[in-house]
Amino acid sequence: MSDDEERITKCPYCGLELRHPYWAHVQQDHPEEYKKKQTWINLYKDYRSMGMDKSICFTVIGELFNVDPNEVEFFLKKNKEL
Ligand SMILES: [Zn+2]
Repeated sequence: MSDDEERITKCPYCGLELRHPYWAHVQQDHPEEYKKKQTWINLYKDYRSMGMDKSICFTVIGELFNVDPNEVEFFLKKNKEL
C-alpha cells in the first residue's frame, strides 16, 4: 500500500510531487485538464496500465480533482470504461 501512496503523490501532468490537497495544484497549474472530466478516462487508463487497483485509481483521481471516488467510478462506468 505504501508504494502506491508514494506514487500517487506525483502530478500526472508535470511530475511535480504533490501535497494535500492534490487537486489545488491541478486546478491552478493545469486548469484545462481540471475542467475536463474526459481526462479522468486517460488517467484511469494510465494508472491501470501501471497495475494500479481500480479502487485506488478512483481514489487517486478523486484526490486530484477534489471529487468523491464514487463520482469517478460513476463517470467511468457511464463512459463504458469499466
Ligand atoms: Zn502538475
